Amino acid sequence: MLNEKVANLLNLQVNREFYSAYLYLELANHYAEEGLNGFSNWYKIQAQEERDHAMLFIQFMQNNDAKVVFETIEKPEVELNDNLTPLKVGLNHEVYVTNLINNIYDAAHETKDFRTMQFLDWFIKEQGEEETNASDLVKKMELFGSDPKGLYLLDQELGARVYTAPSLVL
Ligand code: MG
Repeated sequence: MLNEKVANLLNLQVNREFYSAYLYLELANHYAEEGLNGFSNWYKIQAQEERDHAMLFIQFMQNNDAKVVFETIEKPEVELNDNLTPLKVGLNHEVYVTNLINNIYDAAHETKDFRTMQFLDWFIKEQGEEETNASDLVKKMELFGSDPKGLYLLDQELGARVYTAPSLVL
C-alpha cells in the first residue's frame, strides 16, 4: 500500500502530466498558425511524451493498488505574441514540473517509500533532460531566430524530431 500523502501527490501528477500535454499542444498550435511546422512538430511530440508520463503514473499507481481519480484538466492560459515566448513558457513549465517531481520524491523519502523513490528516479533524470532541451531551444532561438534563414534552419531541425516511447517500462 502506498502512503496516503504519496498516493494523493501521484494522483495529482497524473492530472498535471495531462495538463503538460495540453499546454504543449497549445504551443504546437501557435507554431502551426505561424507556419512553423517544425516547431509545431517538436511540441506535438513533447505533448505525446507528457501523455506517456501520465500513463506511467497511472500504471505505477495501479500496480500498487492505488485508486486513480481524474480531475478537470485546466485550460492553458498563455499569451503567445511571438515565436520566442512559447519556448520560454516551455522552459518555465519544465522547471515547475521538476519541482513537482521533487516534492513527490520528498514525500516518498519522508515515509521511507523506496519503491516510489525508485520509480521517480527515472523522472528526475528525465526532468534534467527536459530542462536542458528547453533551455537549449531558447538559446538557439535567441541566437538565430531573428534571421529568416536561421529561423528556417531551426524549423527544419525541429521538424526532424521523431517520437520515441519512454525508456521506462513498468
Ligand atoms: Mg512530464
